[in-house]
Amino acid sequence: MSDEHVLICVAWPYANGPLHLGHVAGCYLPPDIQARFERSLGNRVLMVSGSDEHGTPITVSAEKEGVSPQVIVDRFHKINSQALLDLGCSWQPSLDSRGMAHGGSLFNRTSDIRHKKIVQDNFIKLNDAGLFEKRVMKQFYEVKDEGGRFLPDRYVEGICPHCEADGARGDQCDNCGSTYDSVELISPRSLMDPSSTIEIRDTEHLFYRLELFQKLLEKHARSQHHLWKANVRAMTKNWLDMGLRPRAVTRDLEWGIDIPIDHEEWHKKCIYVWFEAVQGYYSASRIWAEENGDKEAWKKWWEVDESGIQPRHLYFLGKDNIPFHTIIWPALIAGLNHANSGKSGDEEIQMPGPGDLALPHNVPAMEYLMLAGGQFSKSRNHAIWLPAFLKRFDPDTIRYHLCINMPENHDTDFNWSDFVEKVNNELIATYGNFVHRVLTLGARFTEEKPLSSFDDAPYCSEARTKLETIFQQITESLQKHRYKEALRLVMSAAQYGNQMLQAATPWKYLKDTSTDEARDSMIKLAFGWRISRFLAVTSQPFLPFSAQRLWLSLGESGDVSEVDWSQAIEWNCPMKWNDEPPVPLFTRLDLEEILEQEKGLIEASDEDQTLQKIKGVKKKKEEEKMTEGVTYLDFETFTKTELKVGRIISVNEHENADKLYVVKIDDGTVEGRTICAGIKEYYTIEQLENKLVVFVANLKPRKLRGIMSEGMMLAADDGNEKVCLITIDGDIAVGSKVM
Ligand SMILES: [Zn+2]
Repeated sequence: MSDEHVLICVAWPYANGPLHLGHVAGCYLPPDIQARFERSLGNRVLMVSGSDEHGTPITVSAEKEGVSPQVIVDRFHKINSQALLDLGCSWQPSLDSRGMAHGGSLFNRTSDIRHKKIVQDNFIKLNDAGLFEKRVMKQFYEVKDEGGRFLPDRYVEGICPHCEADGARGDQCDNCGSTYDSVELISPRSLMDPSSTIEIRDTEHLFYRLELFQKLLEKHARSQHHLWKANVRAMTKNWLDMGLRPRAVTRDLEWGIDIPIDHEEWHKKCIYVWFEAVQGYYSASRIWAEENGDKEAWKKWWEVDESGIQPRHLYFLGKDNIPFHTIIWPALIAGLNHANSGKSGDEEIQMPGPGDLALPHNVPAMEYLMLAGGQFSKSRNHAIWLPAFLKRFDPDTIRYHLCINMPENHDTDFNWSDFVEKVNNELIATYGNFVHRVLTLGARFTEEKPLSSFDDAPYCSEARTKLETIFQQITESLQKHRYKEALRLVMSAAQYGNQMLQAATPWKYLKDTSTDEARDSMIKLAFGWRISRFLAVTSQPFLPFSAQRLWLSLGESGDVSEVDWSQAIEWNCPMKWNDEPPVPLFTRLDLEEILEQEKGLIEASDEDQTLQKIKGVKKKKEEEKMTEGVTYLDFETFTKTELKVGRIISVNEHENADKLYVVKIDDGTVEGRTICAGIKEYYTIEQLENKLVVFVANLKPRKLRGIMSEGMMLAADDGNEKVCLITIDGDIAVGSKVM
C-alpha cells in the first residue's frame, strides 16, 4: 500500500452561472476519479477548490440584474457546490475517515475573509521583496459630472478592429475570436450606459515581475517534460518562447480584495482576480487545516520535506487555463519561497528546497467537450447545465458517458443519442446485465449464501489471471491520467464475465447440480460473484453510486470507497450474499422521451435561438428535428424513404467516370431504371449481374457525369476500403417494398 501526500487541485468554477457538462468533463470529473483512486491506494489525499467570486463578469451580471455582486456569487456558489455533491464529487465529508493525517477536502470560496487575509499577506510579502513594479496603463474612463469611473474591458463594447462586428467586447471579439488592446476597439461605448462619454486615461498599477522567473520556469518545465501531456508541454513552451513579461496584479474595480497598501491612490482599486483566485489552492489548504483543528496540517501537502521529497501536486483544468498553472502560478509560488527566504528581487530565484512550497507536479489538462460541434459557453448560453441534468438522470450515467468520451487528447462532442446509446448499450448491456445475471441466477438457490457451496477460486485460474492483468492495466492507466482507457478496461472485465457465463450456461443446471458439467458451470457462476466484487471496487472511482449499490447487493457492508484498491483481486475473501431480491443497477434511457422533454424545455422558455441550440434540439422545422450534430428523423420522415428490391440485369462501365458503373435494374416496372454506382473498385461486372439488391426508389434523379441516375443502391462501408452491397436473403419479387 502506498502512503504518499497527494494534493488534488481542482480549477475554481466562476460563480456567475451554473456549471455545464463541458466544465464537468474538463475540470470536475477527472480530479474526483483521481482522488478516489489515490485514496483507495492508501495515499493521503487533500483535494481543494471553490468558487471564484471576484472579477468583472460577476459585477456585470450584478449591475444588469440590479443586485449586489454578493447576491450573484451567493446564488451560484450554493447551486454549484450542491451540483458537484449531487454528481458524486467527494467534497464531503471534509475529513478522510482514517483521520486528519490522511487528508480530506474543502470546496471554499474566494469571498472567504480568511482567503482574503492570506492573499493580502502574500501581496505584502511579494511587494516587500521587490517582486512588483509600478507601471502606467491606458484605460477607458467613463466621464460623469459626479463620480466618473474607470471601465474595465468587460464594461466596454464597440466594433471589432479585425472583423468589424459590432458588439465586440473591450478586449476580445466573440465573433472572430481575436483579442486586442482595448484602445484598438472602434467606436467604444460604455456597456451600462452607451450614451455616456468615454475617454482614455492613464492609470497606475502594480505588476508582477514575471520575467524574473523565466529561467526557473524553463527548468521546471524541462524537469516535468516526461510527465506532461503534449498540449501542456506545447502551450507552456509557447509562452516561455515568447518571453515572460510583467503582469498587472491590481486593477480599477471595487469588487475584489482590497489592496493592502494604505495610500489613497489604491483605495478605488483592487487586487486583480487572477492573482488571488489562483492562490485559492493554497489558502483553501490552510483553511481546511485550521477548520479541522490542526493549523499546521496543510504543510504536509505543500512543503518539500527535509530529504527533498515533494508532495505530489496535481492540477485539473481545461486547456484554456494551462499557462496559469505551468507559468503564472509556479512563478507566484517561487516568488513566495524567494520572499520567505528573505531574498530580494535582484537575487537569483531558486528551485524549491526543504521547507519551501512545492511546484506543480502534473497538470493533466483536458481538451474541450463540445456541444453540437460548438464550444459550450456560459456567456452565449450554449450549454447543458449540470444542475438541471442531475434532476433528470442518475449521476453515474453522465459520469460514465463523460468519462468514456473524455476530451483527453482531442475535443469530443456531446449529443443525446450518443449519451443514450452508451448508457443503454455499454453501461447497462455489459456491466449492469452481467452483475444482475449473477445475482438473479444465484438467488434461484434457496439455501443461505447460495453460491458459497460452489466457490472455488483456485479452479478458475484462467479467469483470475485475466482479471489480474486487467487490474494491473487499470491501475497503470489511472496513474497516467488516462481515464477513458481505464474505464474501458473496467468494462472489459464485465465483458469477460458475460462471455464466461455465456459459455458456462449455468441456467441449464439450476435444477440438478450433481453432474461434473453442472458443477463446472456453477463454479463459474460463483466466480461471477467475485468478478462483480472486482467491478464494484474498480468502478468506484468512476461510478461511485452504482458501485456502492452493487457492493451492498453482493452482501458486503460499509462504504466501497473505503475499500483498499487491491481488494479487487482478493480471491480468498469469504463469499457473502444479500438476501434481498436483486434490483437492476440502472434504468434504460429512452431517446425519444428525452428529446421530447428537451423540446418541451425549449418551448417552455422564451429564450432566443441560441437557447434552442443549447438544448440540442431546434424547433420543428420542415419535418426535421435536429439534435446536436446528429440528424434525428421522426418515423414519418423515415417512412418517406421508399426502399425496394431490384435485380441487376446489366452492368456497363461509365464512359466518363473511372469509379462508376452504369447499372440497369429490373424494378418490376416495364422500363426498369438506371443507377450510377461507385462500386467499380469492389465488384467485377460478373459478380454483379443477376444480384438482388435494395435501392432507394424515390431519390430525386440526377445526372452523374452525363448519365441520369434514378436512385441509389444500398451498400455497407466499413470505412476501411471494404464495401458490400445489401442483398436479399431468399427469393422475392422485384419491386417488393423494403420496410
Ligand atoms: Zn472580430
